[in-house]
Amino acid sequence: MKKEQLSKLKSFLSTPKNIAIIGHKGPDGDAVGSILALSLYLKKLNHNTTVIVPNDFPDFLKWMPQSESILIYEKEKIQVETSLNDADLIFTLDFNSLSRVGDDLKQVLEKSEVPFAMIDHHQLPEPYATYQYSDVTICSTAQMVYHFIEMMNNLSLLDKDIATCIYTGIMTDTGSFRYSSTTATTHKVVAHLIEQGINNAAIHQAVFDTNSPERMQLLGVALQNLVILDEFNTAYITLSQEELDKHNFQKGDTEGFVNYGLSIKNIKFAAIFIEHKQEGLIKISFRSIGDFNVNRFARNYFEGGGHNNAAGGKSKRPMKETVNQFITNLRSHKNELANE
Ligand code: 5GP
Ligand code: MN
Repeated sequence: MKKEQLSKLKSFLSTPKNIAIIGHKGPDGDAVGSILALSLYLKKLNHNTTVIVPNDFPDFLKWMPQSESILIYEKEKIQVETSLNDADLIFTLDFNSLSRVGDDLKQVLEKSEVPFAMIDHHQLPEPYATYQYSDVTICSTAQMVYHFIEMMNNLSLLDKDIATCIYTGIMTDTGSFRYSSTTATTHKVVAHLIEQGINNAAIHQAVFDTNSPERMQLLGVALQNLVILDEFNTAYITLSQEELDKHNFQKGDTEGFVNYGLSIKNIKFAAIFIEHKQEGLIKISFRSIGDFNVNRFARNYFEGGGHNNAAGGKSKRPMKETVNQFITNLRSHKNELANE
């Protein structure tokens, strides 16, 4: 964040305010961890906070401190709109385009006249925020919340609950500290979090080892459906609505499935196409290893975006056409994806 912005924000936050904090649609560990950590911190400064997400989040995050206080716009429209009307400042976390909160909530936000503060690590931030802390080199928004508290000279306010939320965000966005976005600084931050008395092993277990049998069966289907395109060093998975229904699909059940494609020898690019019949769209996740830029690929062809090695997008066409379009798009990147 620019110096002038930071000092303005500091003085703004020096007296108690009503603050709304919003995460993106389809909230993941980083979104939920970041909004909760920021809220817990701001409460310690005597602010009144409301924590909002556009739609529900997975059960494997519902153990998090204060997660029961999160307002879900889809279920609690009036309460959310009231708190946004009452807000003096709106924080948007882990996204950088208002379209990432969904059309209805986006309209509410666009009407708001109060300043926005962005904390986010995605590429090409849209210029809606008066206070913008954007850094694409940081692995997670949760780590940025730690640095934000540091910039406010308030690291002494860190406690076990705040540290637990930040740790969860960093852990989930780095694939448990294994992606190249994990730096020495990340590990130093995490060391400091563990010093706050968090139970890191229990957090990992709560997020990753609470699978339902149905989810494991669905993973089996996904792996059966996996297709390898040797000439592009690419693997993709499809899951139809019927397959999801058959395995009693619950929010978050397909989280991480795309990574199985990337775990195959020589595969540099992996995708998963998941049908959402009700919304009339196919939601797509892209992952890559190395230089292949999936943020650009998602932006160019599938109305999406994200990071260099992890991005998402969507298609309104049926599954077969979407996959065919994907394969056609791959042809334009054959050289980038070829063996060295
Ligand atoms: P995931 O595949 O796990 O849903 O998302 C991977 C990354 O891409 C995340 O950082 C997420 O915020 C971003 N992302 C996912 N879907 C979209 C989308 O439709 N639009 C944009 N701009 N980013 C997305
Ligand atoms: Mn994130």
